[in-house]
Amino acid sequence: MSTYLVTGARPYGEAPADLLLEDGRIAGIGPGLSAPGAEVVDAAGLVALPGLVDLHTHLREPGREDAETVETGSRAAALGGYTAVHAMANTDPVADTAGVVEQVWRLGRDAGLVDVVPVGAVTVGLGGQRLAELGAMADSAARVRVFSDDGMCVADPALMRRALEYVKALDGVVAQHAEEPRLTAGAQMHEGDRSARLGLTGWPAAAEEAIIARDVLLAGHVGARLHVCHVSTAGSVEILRWARSRGVQVTAEVTPHHLLLTDACAESYDPVFKVNPPLRTDADVQALRQALADGVVDAVATDHAPHAVEDKESEWAAARPGMLGLEQALSVVLATMVEPGLLDWRGVADRMSARPAAIGRLDGRGPLAHGRPLAPGEPANLVLLDPAARSVVDPAALSSRSRNSPYAGRELPGRVVHTFLRGVPTVLDGKAQR
Ligand SMILES: [Zn+2]
Repeated sequence: MSTYLVTGARPYGEAPADLLLEDGRIAGIGPGLSAPGAEVVDAAGLVALPGLVDLHTHLREPGREDAETVETGSRAAALGGYTAVHAMANTDPVADTAGVVEQVWRLGRDAGLVDVVPVGAVTVGLGGQRLAELGAMADSAARVRVFSDDGMCVADPALMRRALEYVKALDGVVAQHAEEPRLTAGAQMHEGDRSARLGLTGWPAAAEEAIIARDVLLAGHVGARLHVCHVSTAGSVEILRWARSRGVQVTAEVTPHHLLLTDACAESYDPVFKVNPPLRTDADVQALRQALADGVVDAVATDHAPHAVEDKESEWAAARPGMLGLEQALSVVLATMVEPGLLDWRGVADRMSARPAAIGRLDGRGPLAHGRPLAPGEPANLVLLDPAARSVVDPAALSSRSRNSPYAGRELPGRVVHTFLRGVPTVLDGKAQR
């Protein structure tokens, strides 16, 4: 295994230092390190952070390999600075058995660009009727700890309670897609003045907030861990704040697109901006940024949702909801959180690496851990980025198999230059190594 000497990087944006990567671990950090025989990677001026961890990625394999595969999604992730991604269960077949989660886990291992951590479905076939084999998935080679019917809400409160009881025994967590389906039938965009004017059926904030309120009460009653996917409203933030103050074990994520974009994007009727939950108001965006800054929202998660052209480039009402996220997530966080002074680089490392890894139980002490600090002895998972670079997003240049980026044509700051997974470069000089 090669030894790498990364020179002149700024760990957490602080004083320059060299990082020696040896046998998959960080062997040393400090100024003026020397290592005869090591391959030298010039990282002068680049910010070094722990490898990013995504809690919410749709890789589409098995079933929709025309939109994304584990390999193409892994490549997009590495180019975005990620070293681990959680692969959502709404594939075809659904990841609701040990067999399917092990298949996804093996595909990720074979691609070798990031650690692909399968999410297990909560209910059989995402049907919301019967619990899936949660214990068998937890005990499988994939070691599932995050369970989610994402795309669908676990709407039945009795079933949700039982799911929470099961995951508690497995040291797992239910990641809920909070959407009361009776309130969102036919919904196309955020319900408000704009949806009325545009003539599109609205998705009310209350449909998200009602489920979060119910679920934090259930999680508190059962004493289990609950994670809330893609929080999108100011009201949801208030409920989470209340639940935390009561000691409920609830964590939450926000997507890059909900930190940057608003329902004004729907004015264009461009279906690239159709997403579930929908883009909300400017007041919601401000509340989400503040909640991520103060930690009530724990993590940034991409909800990377590739769609084939025929599913996305149609009229608004017929288009599938969802947008790409992996390759631009760090840039959007730089633009919305770091440049305005809401988060420093240690904060970014916490919200995009340490906390998501802890929620997914990837942050143990072994060589396969993620979300660990940049320190001697820790696994050599890191990203090196140039915060001063700026570029215009070109969907044709993305590594994802799909093209539905909501940032097309938009100038964003920051560029991932190098990514290392256990001391091996997966991205060098902006180019994927596999
Ligand atoms: Zn979802």
